[in-house]
Amino acid sequence: MSQAPADADDRRAIAPVICYPPETLPRPDMALYSAALCEAEPVSVAVAAPREACHFRVKAGQFFRIVSVEGPQVGDLNLWRDGDLSERFYSGKTRALHGTHVSTGERLWSSFPHLRTMATIVEDTLSWYGIDAYGGAVHDVIGTRCDPYTGNLLSGTQYHHCCHSNLIRALSDATGMTRQEAEPHVHDVLNVFMCTGFTRDTGQYFMKASPVRPGDHLTLFAEIDLLGALSACPGGDCSSEHSSDSAQCYPLRVEILQPKAGALAGWQSPARNGYDGSHGR
Ligand SMILES: [Zn+2]
Repeated sequence: MSQAPADADDRRAIAPVICYPPETLPRPDMALYSAALCEAEPVSVAVAAPREACHFRVKAGQFFRIVSVEGPQVGDLNLWRDGDLSERFYSGKTRALHGTHVSTGERLWSSFPHLRTMATIVEDTLSWYGIDAYGGAVHDVIGTRCDPYTGNLLSGTQYHHCCHSNLIRALSDATGMTRQEAEPHVHDVLNVFMCTGFTRDTGQYFMKASPVRPGDHLTLFAEIDLLGALSACPGGDCSSEHSSDSAQCYPLRVEILQPKAGALAGWQSPARNGYDGSHGR
């Protein structure tokens, strides 16, 4: 450990400032969304089988609801703009803007140079959980996704049902791309229903049993046309391990809901980011 300077305590005592105060972000009209959701009708359903992923398409102005069925299960979500895979969910920027975990009223943002809202969370039945005594909370944008490469590095395994591989197969099924073509488009996820945090003493990423129970759900409003893929993580409720077939796993259901005509009066799909893209030259 390095030598502490004489003013070490003074330096540590400086109060933090929030990197990105969210007050000037475009605000979602939650009352409008809630009213539209109340009367929205289901139009299609996709189901991610245990240790598999499903894909689904959501038009701008529709909702999609991720539902726990049968037992506690964590889901790894990828989102792209339907028709342009270069615009995809940007978990790092979402984390910088909203924090390590997301809930009702917060938004999922897209990659550069688009950087606009892809979806807004309108319902979260686990919002009661808050931050527990370990610093754990639900629906994180910290983790990447379980993948066969890290498993191979850590324990020499060849496991084919990590979320990374499940999402590749789902994107391949959705687009007709080969698995090799699809892989570079799979990205860091929203960990739906997953309970995670960082240990206070060592700062390590931890997971613990998800508090999700059948019937719990997370509902999002699609701000732009979306192609989604959801993996039912091989970790199940992520209480012990992932990247193996040892955990008890359950399916996850995705419902697409269509609001009534006129229910979104005044809402507009967000435009691409307003930066001019010249980068100073
Ligand atoms: Zn996983």
